[in-house]
Amino acid sequence: MPKCSFCGAEANESMLVNTYNGGSKDDVHFYYCCEEHKNEIKKYTDYVNKNATKFIVLILIDMLLFSIGMPIAFSINNFYLSLIFSVIPTIALGYIINKYPFATPNTNKSFKIEKSIRVTKILGVIIILIGIIIALGMILYKVIV
Ligand SMILES: [Zn+2]
Repeated sequence: MPKCSFCGAEANESMLVNTYNGGSKDDVHFYYCCEEHKNEIKKYTDYVNKNATKFIVLILIDMLLFSIGMPIAFSINNFYLSLIFSVIPTIALGYIINKYPFATPNTNKSFKIEKSIRVTKILGVIIILIGIIIALGMILYKVIV
């Protein structure tokens, strides 16, 4: 018996949705247990289709800020720039992941969409908290040393 792509319950019906399957769009088979979860799957795939490009661009910009800005800030030994370039990209990454909780197709398949959205959103919040802890740590270090 196939399982609902959203919640993992036994499912009888399926539909084809054109959405991202890895790097490119494809017709993907989704199973659903009820009309409500059919709608949830549609809502999710619409959101992915609409925001996938934005998500990737934001992640790339964020990684650039992190991988270029931070080493420069540390090499010129500027505390405030170091703080900005390590904390802001970290918090931004958490925010992006929380706002666009797009897991890989495999994660969605094994966790089911409902759970993988939840896990990805929590991961985003954890990354934001890490950013805040880094900021506090750096400020504390600056004050003490
Ligand atoms: Zn379901």
